[in-house]
Amino acid sequence: MDLGLQGRTALVCAASKGLGRAVAFALAREGVTLTITARGADALAQTAAEIRAETGTLVHIAPGDITTEAGRAAALAVAGQPDILITNAGGPPPGDFRDLTEAQWLAALHANMLTPIALIRAVIDPMIARRFGRIVNITSASVKSPIPTLGLSNGARAGLTGFVGGVAREVARHNVTINNLLPGPFLTDRLRANAQAAAQAAGRSVDHEIMRRAQSNPTQRVGTPGEFGDACAFLCAAQSGYIVGQNILIDGGAFNASFN
Ligand code: NAP
Repeated sequence: MDLGLQGRTALVCAASKGLGRAVAFALAREGVTLTITARGADALAQTAAEIRAETGTLVHIAPGDITTEAGRAAALAVAGQPDILITNAGGPPPGDFRDLTEAQWLAALHANMLTPIALIRAVIDPMIARRFGRIVNITSASVKSPIPTLGLSNGARAGLTGFVGGVAREVARHNVTINNLLPGPFLTDRLRANAQAAAQAAGRSVDHEIMRRAQSNPTQRVGTPGEFGDACAFLCAAQSGYIVGQNILIDGGAFNASFN
């Protein structure tokens, strides 16, 4: 299926690794010119080179911390007025909510709520003027099914989700869509690091911990970043203008409900 994105431009945040990287690859395969960001400049340049080599697409890099004003300004200076915005950043750390400091709460709110909102605000009016825009926020399955030890993530992402629910319906008539994609367990560096920490604490192997996550959903496996990237690219398609303000779980069916 041709997604009708040839010649479009995208800003994909936090994209040197993991889910963001997979989204960048999927969009590049559709002929989208990219700006990708991450804090680590070397890994970012390496990913850009790999995308160029595989797809022949133009890929710009904007190294920096997207959760800071300077990082966002740098990304937007390179990306200009993108047709597609993918918001993403690292997830906040786990912990007992009793131990969380105000500084940790503010960092989580900046990373997982205020940064996506600031980026949406920066790109949306030009999208409206051009009558095309696709915005996808990478959030988490924990938005629908909160994880007790991830209070920072549950809280900050819920704030973003509420905001998007309103603004998505305000801009949809201009062919500008905003949706959230909610990953369950995907085999990325983040999942490996979490599994390693859990394995160490429980005295088990990392493979065992990854297997436990795989068994937590009906597919009995963890997701591959590539399938996440392709789902995200579909939400950005020219044909996807009628998908508005949705929170789409991509979790192997782990969320158990007759109606989502
Ligand atoms: P990952 O494999 O650790 O990759 C994270 C990417 O984001 C890297 O390229 C990293 O590069 C970049 N990054 C992190 N913080 C950044 C910042 N402040 N500014 C710019 N770039 C930043 O993580 P992932 O698994 O793809 O996760 C992506 C998001 O999905 C996270 O918010 C995570 O909580 C959420 N999520 C993931 C899963 C999963 O199973 N993988 C499940 C639910 C939710 P640098 O470190 O060089 O900046």
